Amino acid sequence: MKKWIIGIVLSNLGFFFLLLLALVLISSILTSAEASSQESKGSSQGCSVVASGTLDEETLNKFLETRGVFKGTASSFIKYGEEYNVDPALVVAIAMHETGNGTSRMVKEWNNPGGLMGDGPGFQFSTLDKGIEAMIKNLSKNYISLGLNTPEKIQPKYAPVGASNDGLGLNKEWLNGVNGFLKQLGGLSTCASNEGTGKYMIPVDNPNISSGFVDRVNPVTGVAEHHKGLDFAQPIGSSIKAADDGIVVYAQMGVSGSGFGGYGNVVLIEHAKNKEWTLYGHQSKLLVKVGQKVKKGEVIGQVGSTGQSTGPHLHFEIRKEKMGGQIDPAPVLGLKGK
Ligand SMILES: [Zn+2]
Repeated sequence: MKKWIIGIVLSNLGFFFLLLLALVLISSILTSAEASSQESKGSSQGCSVVASGTLDEETLNKFLETRGVFKGTASSFIKYGEEYNVDPALVVAIAMHETGNGTSRMVKEWNNPGGLMGDGPGFQFSTLDKGIEAMIKNLSKNYISLGLNTPEKIQPKYAPVGASNDGLGLNKEWLNGVNGFLKQLGGLSTCASNEGTGKYMIPVDNPNISSGFVDRVNPVTGVAEHHKGLDFAQPIGSSIKAADDGIVVYAQMGVSGSGFGGYGNVVLIEHAKNKEWTLYGHQSKLLVKVGQKVKKGEVIGQVGSTGQSTGPHLHFEIRKEKMGGQIDPAPVLGLKGK
């Protein structure tokens, strides 16, 4: 039975492969919103693939342009990254290191970007897209799902330093190499980290709930709906604070069709610790940008009445999914709902 085994160097690979790796390494020196207006769009599950807010397909393709066979492959990394919930930045960084920026024979001839090996010298794939999928699937199953979600945690299993089969001591370059590429890519997305306290704070001073997480008649549209958050009536211009550490994944006027229509000036923060999102709607002034890391309690904006709103208040949501999955914030915050 064949076993998926990963590692730069595993047993019985022979000297030829060590030599190949040496060559590879040398060559690599180098959205009161009235939440009924919620629309849904795109993939709603899992973590953002905005890694520091910058790793979209265009940015990634720019990075890959000079990386050998990886030129133009950003869509594969992002597609399978979303599918298997693995940060594309992490995958790309490992692939660059493993293949000497897309120049190794293993990736050029075998479409094997992750150094995936079975019992033989390495797996071969019919297309690079399939090889990228296999690499991401393997990282998801044998690493990320086990909590091995940073290069530091992955390396001892993927490329163990001091392994008996690592006679040339190449594995010790793995961590530096992968982290170097990761830095160029803007770092890991928050989901790959575990930052935060996991306990939300009330995002406003003197919380006064004007509308709870209830079925109601929308005060603006007159239509019956489920109100998907808490409304805190606040003086206009008062401070809105991040409920926990996180990364800003949306910060702008929510226009119709964006999934944030009706929320006015709205901020969505992704929280790594809880794998959840918090949303802050109807702001008068946004004080953060997409990609910005925020600390719990940090002021992210000012209370307003923008979007679908009848007066100054903060509409606050806790989401299990980036684009939905709202839960009642009141018990989470230790507040009595209304
Ligand atoms: Zn509301």
